[in-house]
Amino acid sequence: MKTLKFGGTSVGKPERMRHIARLITQDPDPKIVVLSALSGTTNSLVEIGENLFKKEIEKAGKLIQDLVDHYISFINELYTDERSRESASNAINEHFNFMKGLLSSFFNKRLNNELLAQGELMSTKLFSFYLEEQGIHSRLISALDYMYIDEDKEPDIAFINEKLSGILDQNKGAGIFITQGYICRNHEGEIDNLQRGGSDYTATLIGAAIDAPEVQIWTDIDGMHNNDPRIVEKTYAISNLSFNEASELAYFGAKILHPSSIWPAQKYNIPVRLKNTMQPDAYGTFISDIEEEKKIKAVAAKDGITAIKIKSSRMLMAYGFLRKIFQIFENYRTPIDMISTSEVAVSLTIDDATNLKSIMDDLEDFGEVVVDDNQTIICIVGNKIVEKEEILQKVFRAMENVPVRMISYGGSRYNISILVDTKFKNETLKELNKHIFDI
Ligand code: ADP
Ligand code: ASP
Ligand code: MG
Repeated sequence: MKTLKFGGTSVGKPERMRHIARLITQDPDPKIVVLSALSGTTNSLVEIGENLFKKEIEKAGKLIQDLVDHYISFINELYTDERSRESASNAINEHFNFMKGLLSSFFNKRLNNELLAQGELMSTKLFSFYLEEQGIHSRLISALDYMYIDEDKEPDIAFINEKLSGILDQNKGAGIFITQGYICRNHEGEIDNLQRGGSDYTATLIGAAIDAPEVQIWTDIDGMHNNDPRIVEKTYAISNLSFNEASELAYFGAKILHPSSIWPAQKYNIPVRLKNTMQPDAYGTFISDIEEEKKIKAVAAKDGITAIKIKSSRMLMAYGFLRKIFQIFENYRTPIDMISTSEVAVSLTIDDATNLKSIMDDLEDFGEVVVDDNQTIICIVGNKIVEKEEILQKVFRAMENVPVRMISYGGSRYNISILVDTKFKNETLKELNKHIFDI
């Protein structure tokens, strides 16, 4: 069974929802359709949650009312039949009643996670009612019944497989299954999520769990581009990517894919196709285990990086020094992205600065600690690019006027990473576009 995921903009307008109903019924193959929340909804829910934490009840109430108004007009436009409008309104009202109830409750993290889940719960209901109105047979299945993350927030594919297979078996013949992206349960059985943009991850986890022939990610652009199209003017869609290339790009900031979304597909060798909902005939990007010749494929950028330098004369010739440094990051469950060392200092980067203060306190036992925030990792990706000498020359030429804080080369065959101050990000991406893609 194929897995198809439609992102926020693909379901964000009534005519788009009608359009994807046509797309998924073009062939009779059974499929699982994963939906995001309507575009803008999760952002609003995040904002409502922030206001509830700050006890800005009036502001939160206003934001909820804005959402209510948006959904009322969406429902009025989507359906043609009064009965469908009524069923959809009743279903959506339950969600808004829950949200309004939060205005007078003691708000906490658990309720915030429940709040964040409302977007996908609502979009899937709206879509199911629409399919029903159109006489298209489908079954809505709740991700909360099979999508699960453990104590370390890692999804458990064996568990997902067991639960989901059971649900699919019970509903044999349904043909089209509709389900929510992004939302899941955690090890305590509470509602949780796979982090922002997590619907892509839902789709590949499902694909891996049911051994799908393919996972399709339908979005608002014709595939993975060679550079960030929000920043660089001339970019183009890449036809083919290997899993290694795609996972580097996703992890290092290409927003079209959730950072973790490629590993389940790679582990279970399920091809992933990126497609444009508005241009279904465009080829898009095909991600598989096929590795092409040595070539730069794309550049991506990941913001919000903190660089930490530990300077210590004791590092000189001391074995075990790095282990002690790494242990501190492990103690605070903080992953390290880049690392570079010299005889007397080591610099590394993290993207989760939640425990920065404690990490710094512990690192100070080893030497002088200097922290630079607002850094960006620029990542240049392509199969075996580190084996092509002229690539590094081109990269350095592009970086001529940009101060480089760190560089990582040779860590993998697919990736060259450069750390710059975020204020130089746009210029760096544009220069790299000129020098390495000649556009
Ligand atoms: P969805 O809501 O469908 O999940 P997203 O907004 O999460 O869509 O992802 C698609 C967007 O990702 C595109 O509109 C584009 O602006 C942005 N993007 C950033 N980098 C890239 C890239 N390298 N290739 C394609 N799109 C990218
Ligand atoms: N709705 C969620 C978000 O906006 C998940 C997703 O769209 O992938 O982050
Ligand atoms: Mg997305």
